[in-house]
Amino acid sequence: MRSARFDYHVHETFSSDARDSKVEDYIKVAEKRGIEQIAFTTHEIITGTYSYFGIQLEEVEQYIDNIHRLDETTDVKLLVGLEVDYFSEAQRQIEALLDEYPFDFILGSTHFIGEYDVGSRKDAPAYFGGRSLKEATTDYFRFWIEAVQSGLFDSMAHPDYWRRFLHLVRKEPVLLSEYGLLGDAVDSLVSYDVGIEVNSSGRRHEHGIQYPIRGFLETAYNAGLKKITLGSDSHIPDHLGYWLAGAVDLLKDIGFTHISSFKARKHKSNPIDSLVRTVK
Ligand SMILES: [Zn+2]
Ligand SMILES: [Zn+2]
Repeated sequence: MRSARFDYHVHETFSSDARDSKVEDYIKVAEKRGIEQIAFTTHEIITGTYSYFGIQLEEVEQYIDNIHRLDETTDVKLLVGLEVDYFSEAQRQIEALLDEYPFDFILGSTHFIGEYDVGSRKDAPAYFGGRSLKEATTDYFRFWIEAVQSGLFDSMAHPDYWRRFLHLVRKEPVLLSEYGLLGDAVDSLVSYDVGIEVNSSGRRHEHGIQYPIRGFLETAYNAGLKKITLGSDSHIPDHLGYWLAGAVDLLKDIGFTHISSFKARKHKSNPIDSLVRTVK
């Protein structure tokens, strides 16, 4: 099989949607599939109704110690990260958390727009209903740009995750022209030096397309974006590295020449041709 060497979006037991997925089990899969670096990015939802869902502040030290301890047991490089939900009113709190601990990599997410969990089966119909898709995505990307401009994040997770349950309100495929504020969103990445990830969980969702769609990646490439991370968004060990070799092929086809890695929040560019290996 062909594997990408990096997977920078992985949930383990401190995420409440991955309670049984131990770091040890991810290591075993990584060793078998030739994955060299895993960045664990457990959910951190620092405020609001869903804060119970992610890691609690008093658990962060234990989370980090566990990954550091297990890093000693394997040749797979284990990195400590978080997938942090952005909230305008909690910027200071997020900043304090990121300053306090030795994280390697921080993904930014905008799952929640106001009261809506936009990528949920429950809220998607209410969020998208009664207005054009472009209005809804404009609303989404306005908030997303604010997250980028906060300077808190290394890379933005699944940029168009709002597509997840869109099929509940419309059947037609999404057009790039329906992405509100697309140019501004992409420009914000370049000017604030923030990356985006290609997230393969979309290939496992009903619509079957990675996040973001190819047109978004092309727009980002044309705007001069250079930082791209790869993430399977695994919540179970078997999904580790899922379709990420495919993501590398796609990025290469668009023209990208490098894939990002991080250590202690320092960015490194890796030649795209070195990213995929074939394992028996
Ligand atoms: Zn997410
Ligand atoms: Zn995730």
